[in-house]
Amino acid sequence: MPARNILVINCGSSSIKFALVNEAHSQFTLSGLAERLGSPDAVLHWQRGGEKDSLMLPGGDHRAALHQLLPLVQGAAGGKLHGIGHRVVHGGEQFTAACRIDAHSLQAIRATAPLAPLHNPANLQGIEAALKLFPNLTQVAVFDTAFHQSLPEHAYRYAVPEHLYRDHGVRRYGFHGTSHRYVSHRAAEMAGLATGDSSWLSAHLGNGSSTCAIVDGQSRDTSMGLTPLEGLVMGTRSGDVDPNLHGHLARTLGWSLEQIDAMLNKDSGLLGLSGLSNDMRSLEQAREQGHPGATLAIEVFCYRLAKSLASMSCALPQLDGLIFTGGIGENSPLIRSKTVSHLKLFNLALDKEANARCIRGVAGAIQAHGHPRVLVVPTNEERQIALDTLALLTA
Ligand code: ADP
Repeated sequence: MPARNILVINCGSSSIKFALVNEAHSQFTLSGLAERLGSPDAVLHWQRGGEKDSLMLPGGDHRAALHQLLPLVQGAAGGKLHGIGHRVVHGGEQFTAACRIDAHSLQAIRATAPLAPLHNPANLQGIEAALKLFPNLTQVAVFDTAFHQSLPEHAYRYAVPEHLYRDHGVRRYGFHGTSHRYVSHRAAEMAGLATGDSSWLSAHLGNGSSTCAIVDGQSRDTSMGLTPLEGLVMGTRSGDVDPNLHGHLARTLGWSLEQIDAMLNKDSGLLGLSGLSNDMRSLEQAREQGHPGATLAIEVFCYRLAKSLASMSCALPQLDGLIFTGGIGENSPLIRSKTVSHLKLFNLALDKEANARCIRGVAGAIQAHGHPRVLVVPTNEERQIALDTLALLTA
């Protein structure tokens, strides 16, 4: 059978990220981004081989962008596109794995929208446009939350009245599942262990960040909760704060729910702490030049990350390794070494040269000799979505 081609689509409210994945090649055949959709400045950018190109789509919506994409994809796939994999942020308790998209699953994704009001409707727009444009292709939904449906109840329940869980779905769901799953499989391969018989701590550190405890290929705990705001310090998200902060700000400053929500999601995290930037690269540069806000933001980020990893260890029977991934995890020797320095009780220590070497897509073990395994593993959510789509095509 010739190697198959899967188009992977990640739809935001005004953007579409896409990649054409061929199962035999590690590089994407075609990839790109449509952005500012629905505005006069809507534009489609793409990259094929070494060549980049773009096309203005004034006023174009999701459907218009996908329509323009169609001949590009068909050309790059040699006319042989086998399926489409869609990233869907929230699958609630309905979805424990990827699923084929049909009337029944579409309805279930719609029903989950209240749990992810910003993300699921945007994901659905992409799915609906793709169904109209490619009615004869198998299309698959891959959920950020599905991997964490294996959490035990003591890890996913909040200590709030039971009816809030029963009637309103208030529980911890977790996100970044596709990434944690992908890197834990790769880590097991790199270590020569069976995925089904290994235990990992994983730190996905990008603009959004989360930790995960993975035992025998299953998520057992994770730092994000009902929403992606819980847990670590992120680019612009606060992560954990005292749950009474909402009430405190409302009472003392008269802030509305919307103001507090925007502050915690958009003005906090690395940006809020540093007063400078949400971007770790910029903060590392500013820290070099002695910027106090950037220095503090990095210290808080690493300490809170280490604390989260230590708490995740409660879910592990043993530790086969700590995995760093995401833009920061894959590229920042500084963040890795500062984080590990807070985990001395786990006997973790890094090899300085190996830590410096693993950047820009280079994977590898970075622990010092005789210390527990620490791996840098570049994530590839698009490939994992394509693999899930291929598995359902074959099933
Ligand atoms: P997203 O969550 O949007 O997919 P990424 O996984 O691409 O984000 O991660 C983005 C983060 O990675 C940014 O904070 C960026 O500064 C950081 N990053 C990328 N390269 C480096 C680097 N060389 N050193 C430190 N941080 C980096």
